[in-house]
Amino acid sequence: MTNVAIIGGGLAGLSAAAALAGRGLEIELFEAKRRLGGRAGSYLDRESGELVDHCQHVAMGCCTNYLDFCRRTGIADLFERHDTLHFFGPDGRRSDFRPSRWLPPPFHLLPSLVRIKHLTLSDKLAIARAMLRLICRPTTKRSDPIMIDWLHHQRQPRQAIERFWQVVLVSALGESLDRASLSSARKVFLDGFLAHVDACHVLVPKVSLGELYDVRVAKWLCERGVSIHLESPTRTIATGSGARLVLNTPRSSGAEFDHVILAVPWRKAVELLHPALGEQLPQLAAAADFPSAPITSVHFWFDRPITELPHAVLVGRLSQWIFRRADLQSVSSPQSVQSPTGRIENPSYYQVVISASHDLAGRPRDGVRDEVLADLRAVFPAAREASLLRWQLITEPEAVFSCRPGLDEQRPAQTTPIPNLFLAGDWTRTGWPATMEGAVRSGYLAAQAVLDRMGRPEKLVVADLSRGSMVRLLGAEQ
Ligand SMILES: Cc1cc2nc3c(=O)[nH]c(=O)nc-3n(C[C@H](O)[C@H](O)[C@H](O)COP(=O)(O)OP(=O)(O)OC[C@H]3O[C@@H](n4cnc5c(N)ncnc54)[C@H](O)[C@@H]3O)c2cc1C
Repeated sequence: MTNVAIIGGGLAGLSAAAALAGRGLEIELFEAKRRLGGRAGSYLDRESGELVDHCQHVAMGCCTNYLDFCRRTGIADLFERHDTLHFFGPDGRRSDFRPSRWLPPPFHLLPSLVRIKHLTLSDKLAIARAMLRLICRPTTKRSDPIMIDWLHHQRQPRQAIERFWQVVLVSALGESLDRASLSSARKVFLDGFLAHVDACHVLVPKVSLGELYDVRVAKWLCERGVSIHLESPTRTIATGSGARLVLNTPRSSGAEFDHVILAVPWRKAVELLHPALGEQLPQLAAAADFPSAPITSVHFWFDRPITELPHAVLVGRLSQWIFRRADLQSVSSPQSVQSPTGRIENPSYYQVVISASHDLAGRPRDGVRDEVLADLRAVFPAAREASLLRWQLITEPEAVFSCRPGLDEQRPAQTTPIPNLFLAGDWTRTGWPATMEGAVRSGYLAAQAVLDRMGRPEKLVVADLSRGSMVRLLGAEQ
């Protein structure tokens, strides 16, 4: 039987395994850590005994391959769909953003844009004008400028940049507007907002990422015959007998495979190749130097709920998004109580996410916590009464690769000059920024390439949401 090794149990590796499972192949997945999920993972919170996500992950309606992966592996019903985005302006006033179902894209966003309270009429007109420009394939002197330069070129008012473009794009791209490229910003804005009425729905897991990937997806894969080896970091990949590739892991050295999918982060890939293989893939050495961007999450356990909203977007503050995760939320009693053992029962858990948190480097953790708490108290009156029971601040310094101008051309394809070695990972060439969608796309593309190589071609990648006819008429290619 043809055997396939998948190295890396993040979403790229898991989706490659899911796409190949049940096709008569012998599949072995090697993961260095003790849990699956990679960057989309959870940790065991010792105090509560619950799995808490390192950082809340959300998907959007435009993530067609990620949603296909969730359906395929039976986890699609573990998400809440938020059709309305709740924005809180700097003065604390709330504006709900809900795409119209009656207007064709891209005009479906206009009624909500008009209703935003923290933007002036001239901000809104400028934003609408720039949105149209984004659709009509913007022409610029530089082939792919930095987004902030393009916004200035479009004469966007400062307030429109700070209260709209920055708010929407920084979390979607994981990068600041003075670093991200126009092409990546256009990609997420077009596909994530303008192209289709369902594109900007937010999908938030109802359970931890650990439950999704390390438990549910792992079980699904095992039931389909995939062998999962945890705590099995691959040390090297080298040429074996015939055209096969040989893997060395601490537990098994010399296992040979017909095909290998390397699905590790961009800094690691080159390290794993024997020099004789590495020299055939110079683009992996280049990928190891891709710049990265950090994401910070601040976790709070309060003695009572501070808001009933499942999420909120805070405008003009350090805190960008706040999430209330239903399964970590006290539903039975509105207030936490102290048990006879002194343990606090039913605390109310919230997580605040700060993407592209470059400016937090070197700042004292307490100071960041206090500023985030002040944000919450300014926006949610109940937070002023609530007592903070405990907190946690986690920064992932290399959360995502930084989508700078010119980087897309350096991203390697999933096929390599070594015919039976394939690459997967959010950093490989998918056209998407570093997202779960990008990771799953790369996994599907790598699986597709394995099948191609075996002479069993099949299309596994799912099409994007179709761009509305008005969007295409305005110039956006399908
Ligand atoms: C804080 C944070 C917040 C994010 N928020 C979102 C979000 O809201 N929405 C979204 O879509 N995306 C988000 N992302 C991005 C998303 O997590 C990633 O794009 C995606 O998970 C990448 O998956 P991957 O499989 O390509 O890589 P990874 O998840 O990095 O997986 C690679 C795996 O390879 C393993 N590995 C490494 N070396 C070896 C070895 N030698 N042998 C075996 N295994 C090895 C690693 O342990 C890891 O499990 C976020 C990322 C972070 C860090």
